[in-house]
Amino acid sequence: MSDDTAEVPPALSAESDCSLILERVNEFLDHELDEGSCDAIRAHLDACEDCLDDYDVQQALKQLVNRCCRTTQAPQQLRMTIVTSITRWRAG
Ligand SMILES: [Zn+2]
Repeated sequence: MSDDTAEVPPALSAESDCSLILERVNEFLDHELDEGSCDAIRAHLDACEDCLDDYDVQQALKQLVNRCCRTTQAPQQLRMTIVTSITRWRAG
């Protein structure tokens, strides 16, 4: 029996593409990644200011959402609104 329909995400390293890292930042924040991938993301954030910025926004957003909507998933619209305001606020 073969089941190759499951998508295997590419392995992460500190040198991974920023887009790859950002794709996984949410899983990282949710503690859904294995230790190796977490290390890779931490190393990348350490070296890449752009990704670190985005990570900060994602983290702030997650804390906000956790505080406001403990039991339900925040609607996409609300998430976008929060991201936009945080980005605007950060941009000064
Ligand atoms: Zn990066």
